[in-house]
Amino acid sequence: MGLENPLVTNMDRVNMPNSEKECESCHETLYSGYEDVKLHEGEYFCDEECLKNHLLENATYEEVTL
Ligand SMILES: [Zn+2]
Repeated sequence: MGLENPLVTNMDRVNMPNSEKECESCHETLYSGYEDVKLHEGEYFCDEECLKNHLLENATYEEVTL
């Protein structure tokens, strides 16, 4: 947010500096110092909604008829 300089964005994609993380679910950039995020087993998420989606996508379950 507020960082719309395309040069900065391109550099970030190449270098992936440690001060910025990416949400594992929606791949939004998470800027350190600006946002409260969820950390789950070493992976970062914007919020509980993204964490939930990620967990669901990676969960192993079957759909069965009772
Ligand atoms: Zn997200």
